[in-house]
Amino acid sequence: PLLTIVIVLGSFYIPGANMKVGKDKVVLMHYTLKNDAGDVIDSSDGADPLPFLQGHGNIIPGLESALEGSKVGDKLDVSIKPEEGYGERMKDAIQEIPSSALQGVDEVKVGMQLQSQDKDGNAFLVTVTKIDDDKITVDGNHPLAGQTLHFSVSIESVRKAEAEELSHGHVHADGQHHH
Ligand code: ZN
Repeated sequence: PLLTIVIVLGSFYIPGANMKVGKDKVVLMHYTLKNDAGDVIDSSDGADPLPFLQGHGNIIPGLESALEGSKVGDKLDVSIKPEEGYGERMKDAIQEIPSSALQGVDEVKVGMQLQSQDKDGNAFLVTVTKIDDDKITVDGNHPLAGQTLHFSVSIESVRKAEAEELSHGHVHADGQHHH
């Protein structure tokens, strides 16, 4: 009889099953992202679920707030406006630069992404959108800026973050430092 009791007590226990998505939790999610036209822009299908640290800006603000309070097994469909996503497209993020500025780059092509730096030394990506003889147009807007984003998300796991993950502001695989 004792053995039976042990099995009954043990069989429904799933670690973290009742833990909710909230600040300082490490979450694994599967997601599919579509644009307004219904095209799939990005997806974790066929790959590992995406890890992120909730409450630390690892994912866009609109998705972070939509997922707050959800739990393992939850599936959500969320539409996010640009201001809660990657922002509006900004005209002054588009710049013409002399092609001589890119002399170190082998072959500049439209669509190519280049790393740039702002005046504070923060790195960001720009996309080459136009090439003239001596001028190149680069766009510093995020490729998804100005778009309403439609996410389908499933929450795969939720755990407490390790102290080191909190101090770094991102997830370490298996809670271990590896970078
Ligand atoms: Zn780290």
